[in-house]
Amino acid sequence: MSSDLRSLYQEVILDHYKRPRNFGSLEGADHHANGYNPLCGDRISVHLKLGEGGEIEGISFEGSGCAISTASASLMTEAVAGKRAEEALALHGRFHKVLTDREGEPDVSGLGKLEALTGVREYPVRIKCATLAWHALKAALESEGESAKRVSTE
Ligand code: ZN
Repeated sequence: MSSDLRSLYQEVILDHYKRPRNFGSLEGADHHANGYNPLCGDRISVHLKLGEGGEIEGISFEGSGCAISTASASLMTEAVAGKRAEEALALHGRFHKVLTDREGEPDVSGLGKLEALTGVREYPVRIKCATLAWHALKAALESEGESAKRVSTE
């Protein structure tokens, strides 16, 4: 990875860490999940409001964690807003594969701004920080009614 690209990635991560998007509670949210990464101590709760067709009408997150987990959650909320659940899960799958696939260069097509997090693949211990929000999103999509589902990266 070139140093230019690396510093661009770092800028995006720092920006989303310092000014997380869609942070806080969500009015009318009907799906929730709490994610916990014991390796780093990151905690992220995801709130969703699903539309009639199963699309993500609203999304927000709360919690506290390291720069990677916070920036990843912030970038995720922007990436999946308005998408249908299965599209969001497919994006999760692509993102996860880019971070964990050790074979060759990652295929970052279609990741958009999430590409900023692909540098994490060089630091395996941080991958759970980067994927925590996505695990929580998946659990929230699968949750029923008011009760929040709990998910841990372990
Ligand atoms: Zn972390």
